[in-house]
Amino acid sequence: AVQVRQLSKWFGTFQVLKDISLQVEQGEQIVICGPSGSGKSTLIRCVNQLETHQQGDILVHGREIGPKVARLHELRRDVGMVFQHFNLFPHLTVLRNCTLALTRARGMPRAQAEEIALAMLGRVRISEQACKYPSQLSGGQQQRVAIARALCMNPKVMLFDEPTSALDPEMIKGVLDVMRSLAEDGMTMICVTHEMGFAREVADRIIFMDGGSIIEAAPPAEFFTNPQHERTRSFLQQIL
Ligand code: ATP
Ligand code: MG
Repeated sequence: AVQVRQLSKWFGTFQVLKDISLQVEQGEQIVICGPSGSGKSTLIRCVNQLETHQQGDILVHGREIGPKVARLHELRRDVGMVFQHFNLFPHLTVLRNCTLALTRARGMPRAQAEEIALAMLGRVRISEQACKYPSQLSGGQQQRVAIARALCMNPKVMLFDEPTSALDPEMIKGVLDVMRSLAEDGMTMICVTHEMGFAREVADRIIFMDGGSIIEAAPPAEFFTNPQHERTRSFLQQIL
């Protein structure tokens, strides 16, 4: 579903991504972890072109994605993204947050957009909050709305950038449960997270990044019990 080939990126003279190659199959769930500043966010932001890369290729469903590609918005809408901070529009209701892109960007009639939005809010178990404003919801509920909003676009791939790290501990489980159910439904997912319980249960593969490179990639059973690299081992010791 997503192919990253020999991707390199610089911020000025600083090389933030170094020759990254990663293939994600349809229906596969990948967890990316690694120390702060290792390039995790930059990597997934390249996949939906919130950042542009200087070298290498990114393909989403076989179609190249990059700054020079025409009709980038069409390719991009196949890729849903959920951020650490939910980025909901504070002045719009939950329902309107979810329908906005459908009506504005896709020109869908409001009633049809609302039907889709209500279905997706149901999927994240929050339909009863549809008429509230984001500030009236808990952080965990807001994050589930952000997931529903991304799902409304019917993405082929979902990217998550530390979706639970800004949440109070008691809110985390609800969000992880929603992500788990998406995985069970076969959604292709790339998740940057340090929730190692989630990674162990859900991920097909765990990728460890350090210093802009992929240091190690392995299924959870191997990754946790028999990490090959010293840097992976010391990272795991710190977080487990
Ligand atoms: P964290 O776990 O803290 O979120 P990360 O692995 O997601 O870290 P990135 O946000 O991808 O790391 O950043 C990787 C490196 O690139 C960091 O050294 C960061 O300071 C640098 N960086 C990120 N964005 C920019 C930018 N817009 N301009 C310059 N440098 C940047
Ligand atoms: Mg980050």
